[in-house]
Amino acid sequence: MSAVVGYNVQTAVDTEHHLIIAHEVTNQVVDRGQLPKMAAKAKEALGFETIEAIADAGYYRGTDLLACRDIGVTVLTPRTNTSNAKAEGRFGKEVFAYMPDRDVYRCPAGQMLPYRCATKEGDLTMFVYWCTTCPTCPLKSQCTTSKERRVRRWEHEPLVESMTARMETISAMAIRRETAEHPFSAIKACMGATHFLCKGLKAVRTEMSLHGSAWERSAGCWLPECVKAPSTGARMAPAANGVFARPQAPADLTSTQRDNRL
Ligand code: SF4
Repeated sequence: MSAVVGYNVQTAVDTEHHLIIAHEVTNQVVDRGQLPKMAAKAKEALGFETIEAIADAGYYRGTDLLACRDIGVTVLTPRTNTSNAKAEGRFGKEVFAYMPDRDVYRCPAGQMLPYRCATKEGDLTMFVYWCTTCPTCPLKSQCTTSKERRVRRWEHEPLVESMTARMETISAMAIRRETAEHPFSAIKACMGATHFLCKGLKAVRTEMSLHGSAWERSAGCWLPECVKAPSTGARMAPAANGVFARPQAPADLTSTQRDNRL
């Protein structure tokens, strides 16, 4: 099978005016790992000390959350489930309640799973919890196929927990959809959902810059303050809450279909 040349367009859009405040074209197949760089660009363009970044689940990665936190960016993105337990009809991790005062998990049978050890999973340090009563538990068939159910907790799990709590207070994914998809869909419509005209990463980045500029100027038609303020940096900053959102690849294209299309 022949290789297909593809480009992955990343944009950061402010929630107030739907302007593209930062964009990038990469040839990375997946979106994981893109968030810290784009968040830094957006933060610089907005000129805020701290911002919130809303991204879809394709961007979820623990190390990216940490990197963003370190530069003053609070990420809101759905956590992706990497466990097969729920898909196979057993209890998902969400039914195990963490009790921070005792550093234990309470399982669906009411047993306490204490901390046992730490382990490395790639770049992440994970704390592992289990109890010794699993072999005789009446719920074992719904819980684990192993000797006991082991629950893993990332050392920076409070970062994820506070993100999840924050996401429950706002409709983050609706904000992302209404914000980031607006310019993206308009650009696609203007292009006719066709290929980039240029070839090569450098040329495609330039072409995407032109699309971004065209969007910015068309946005001036409905934003009086954009018409009045000629300074690009100044008019990209007015997002009152400093929230921006980013789309991933167009919904109608899979990663393998991103053959030179927006
Ligand atoms: S198998 Fe173990 S962890 Fe699962 S419900 Fe029973 S006691 Fe709790």
